[in-house]
Amino acid sequence: MLQTQALVLQELGAPFKLCDIELQDPQPNEVLVKVTACGLCHTDLIIQAGVFPSPFPCVNGHEGAGTVLSVGSAVTRVQPGDEVLLSYANCAECGYCTMGRPAGCVGFMDRNFGRVRNPSVGAAPVGTLAGTDIPVHGTFFGQSALARHCLAVETSVVKVPKGLDLALLAPLGCGLQSGAGAVLNMLKPAESSSVVVFGLGAVGFGAVWAALYLKVKTVIVVDLVPSRRDLALSHGATHAFDGRSPTLLHDIQHATEGLGAEYAVEATGVERVLRTAWECIRNLGRVVSVGNPGPGSRTPFDITDQVNSSKTWSGLVEGDSNPPVFIPQLMQMHAEGHFPIESIVRNFPAEEFDQALAAMKSGEVIKPVILF
Ligand SMILES: [Zn+2]
Ligand SMILES: [Zn+2]
Repeated sequence: MLQTQALVLQELGAPFKLCDIELQDPQPNEVLVKVTACGLCHTDLIIQAGVFPSPFPCVNGHEGAGTVLSVGSAVTRVQPGDEVLLSYANCAECGYCTMGRPAGCVGFMDRNFGRVRNPSVGAAPVGTLAGTDIPVHGTFFGQSALARHCLAVETSVVKVPKGLDLALLAPLGCGLQSGAGAVLNMLKPAESSSVVVFGLGAVGFGAVWAALYLKVKTVIVVDLVPSRRDLALSHGATHAFDGRSPTLLHDIQHATEGLGAEYAVEATGVERVLRTAWECIRNLGRVVSVGNPGPGSRTPFDITDQVNSSKTWSGLVEGDSNPPVFIPQLMQMHAEGHFPIESIVRNFPAEEFDQALAAMKSGEVIKPVILF
């Protein structure tokens, strides 16, 4: 048992509050991590808002980074003293996991949203509110790293070389790999092709940097915030359009030989934008939906239109990445100057979480990272 602090959601809709908690010892498949930093992602907020069901009180956070303090008896991936980034969890046993594509894991929802620690204890709490016997639920994306310490399941842990800037690299665990994976793992655009990215958050920038890394000829960004469009242009995007522009579709067509783009990455999850993403691609083109509109959303197109245009609509979670392989690849791109994470992050101490949240919601900061 370890006494520590975590940003706890006491109940549905409650604010994130730094609370004392008592954390259990690791299960055989878990790693106790002293958290250095954790990126803040919209998926943390949709738990607060109840878009996906969750037990409360709970700890969230799924872009953690830190140092391993101890490991459960079955853990082989890391040992105490190792520095790690945390990503998403998987069962490690199903056909998808054993073929190295854990984003397809049959247990993805249980392991990442269902707070399942392992098959023997199931969705058990990870500790209690200090001085009480009120259970606290963790294991969000196998980690719940908005805390000074967390119990991470082994499959979510990626060992990295010591001495790196862990706070800077933390957002690789979800947002950035989701966007980069859409381009590098799924679309794989040719240099001669065109990619439109809707929504310049961490996912969108991950997609833009990946497309530029592949030397894609036409990289178009669409966002409501001028400073974000300017930032993408300064990184090498070829066109930037205001999402509110009445000539948006025409402008995208004009930039793509009049045919529309070959690929679109949709990172907003906003219904109107989903429709634009569909309409802006050319025949035989492909949209990959990374932004999550929440349960109950419907496709923004007519199947007959889809058949006759030979267009493809794909969903994608976590960039179809295998984190222990893909995250080091992104770190290498960063080291070579192709993945300028520092241009979108701002650090906030855990005590200033409310400011971090406000800065994210107002659009002022693209990726707040919470320091513990
Ligand atoms: Zn699996
Ligand atoms: Zn996320």
